[in-house]
Amino acid sequence: MESIDAQIERIISLDPGGRGVGSLLVAGDLAAAADELMRARRVWILTGFVIPALKTGETDGPPGAISLASGLLRLGIPTTIVTDPLNGVIMDRAGLSEVEFPLPELWRKERPTHVVAIERPGRAMDGRFHTMDGKVISQEDEVACLFDRASAEEGIVTIGIGDGGNEIGMGKVFERVVRSIPHGERIASVVSADRLIVAGTSNWGGWGLLASLSIRARNDLLPTDEVARDDVTRFVAAGGVDGRTGRSEGSVDGLGMDEYLAVLRELRMLINDSRATESMD
Ligand code: MG
Ligand code: MG
Repeated sequence: MESIDAQIERIISLDPGGRGVGSLLVAGDLAAAADELMRARRVWILTGFVIPALKTGETDGPPGAISLASGLLRLGIPTTIVTDPLNGVIMDRAGLSEVEFPLPELWRKERPTHVVAIERPGRAMDGRFHTMDGKVISQEDEVACLFDRASAEEGIVTIGIGDGGNEIGMGKVFERVVRSIPHGERIASVVSADRLIVAGTSNWGGWGLLASLSIRARNDLLPTDEVARDDVTRFVAAGGVDGRTGRSEGSVDGLGMDEYLAVLRELRMLINDSRATESMD
């Protein structure tokens, strides 16, 4: 029988955008990431993707980071969300969650044991960062440097969550991105992670990881539909946009709210079923 983690991987890798994300999946990495996170003492979550033409942040990333952070906090694991100033202003204005910037003093003080990057641009072969369609985002990025530092330091577990091949963590499947994703040779990120979670949209990857944690903790850590919807609408009201359409609308990667939340409902059903089965044993 298919394991619960494999079922979660299947649910979140639904590919509405037809980007070919299924071919990037690393089977078993979701389970390993959840096992490792259960032992975390301090987690940093890096997020935020800036749309260069619009100079604002997109709705994929921060909502997933917020869901993941609140789940980890419920497990008693201190968690810090770190982003760039542009996304920081939006999240702050939206009253969504407190965010920090990649400050070396804070890093030394908190000493994270686990660093998760969710929908965060990853450096490509040419040393630059790219959008899905191959546009250059920027050359300098402190958040990216922070992830490099986590990878270089002994004993820190790194986890990447992405949906397109151009994000931090996708270096783990670099060759596959080059082969199967449009503009792959230009956008493929060379930045790898210990564990890579691939999803149809990165927020789903955050929920998938939460679902795997929920199974392990025997506690439903997923956000409610209302909270998940609210995270997106508030981010948009504060100036964020859908990264796919570029429009200021309550959608994620072009997915309307119903389609977006359908994955959350499926994950919740899976958790509840597994708990019901467990209580019958
Ligand atoms: Mg992406
Ligand atoms: Mg996305």
